[in-house]
Amino acid sequence: EAKRAGGNRHMVFAPSMRERAARRAGIEAELRQALVEEQLFVVYQPVVRLLQCGGVDYAAGVEALVRWRHPVRGIVPPIDFIEVAEECGLIGMLGDFVLERACRDFLDWRARLGERAPGLMAVNLSRAQLAQPGWIDGVRRILRDTGMPPGCLQLEVTESLAAQDQDIQQRLHDLKTLGIQLALDDFGTGYSSLSSLHLLPVDTVKIDRSFVCQADTSAHHRVLIEATVKVARSLGMTTVAEGIETQSQLDVVRNHLCDKVQGYFYSRPLPAPELLDWLATHDAEVH
Ligand code: C2E
Ligand code: MG
Ligand code: MG
Ligand code: MG
Repeated sequence: EAKRAGGNRHMVFAPSMRERAARRAGIEAELRQALVEEQLFVVYQPVVRLLQCGGVDYAAGVEALVRWRHPVRGIVPPIDFIEVAEECGLIGMLGDFVLERACRDFLDWRARLGERAPGLMAVNLSRAQLAQPGWIDGVRRILRDTGMPPGCLQLEVTESLAAQDQDIQQRLHDLKTLGIQLALDDFGTGYSSLSSLHLLPVDTVKIDRSFVCQADTSAHHRVLIEATVKVARSLGMTTVAEGIETQSQLDVVRNHLCDKVQGYFYSRPLPAPELLDWLATHDAEVH
């Protein structure tokens, strides 16, 4: 916060190591409580498929995003607790909770909406989850217990995570053998490049919001989007533009043949009941 408010004076305001450690310990204790008392919940943002040539765009899927309903602080966003969860070993439980909830909600929508339900559920993974030895067995169990079709589940890993580590790459291949889809999240922000995209067993590339938000104002960012879409398409991968907020950003990514978009322009992430309402009011657009 101090960094945002005070620019380069942030050193002056940065909390001491001890204060930070105490704060972390506090969040950790509260997060343990939150898991027990079911204060965590999942919201869903529609992922919209763009059709060229006058076809009607429709919600092809959703992305699951975790939230924490804190008894005092209100709704806490993931940026304020995912890292702590990773460091204190709670990410496994947290991740399993999100995955299971997402699968159950997905199947509930299917039961209610049939053909008109979104066909893909995307769930974010963190490095610590992939690194846990028994974690894939947990995924297999959740798929079995919920009855989720593996091909309808897409797990998202960040670019920097996927690119560097041999072990992680092996885990990704293991996941693929379950029949799950994989997406490379936040593409463009990490260290991998277009030239190494073919090395990763991913089905989808999600172009980071930092590129998309300048798509309509910066020729440089347009070129990067265009190149990413071209390379991904040539490898048979689907592309998603994240964080679309305006019609003109949408126009740009559509012109560059991006397959799908998500962003506030269509909808913010919504709790499951509101997502159902959203899908109902966008009925005409859903094939
Ligand atoms: P992400 O996977 O890149 O998710 C997209 C983020 O962008 C979400 O933030 C979403 O609310 C936000 N967003 C979507 N459209 C727009 C837009 O048009 N404008 C702007 N300004 N933002 C938009 P959120 O929900 O705060 O999540 C932040 C990050 O936290 C996620 O980034 C993801 O990496 C992580 N995360 C969220 N849920 C989970 C989870 O269940 N497990 C793990 N491991 N990480 C999670
Ligand atoms: Mg994501
Ligand atoms: Mg992510
Ligand atoms: Mg992202």
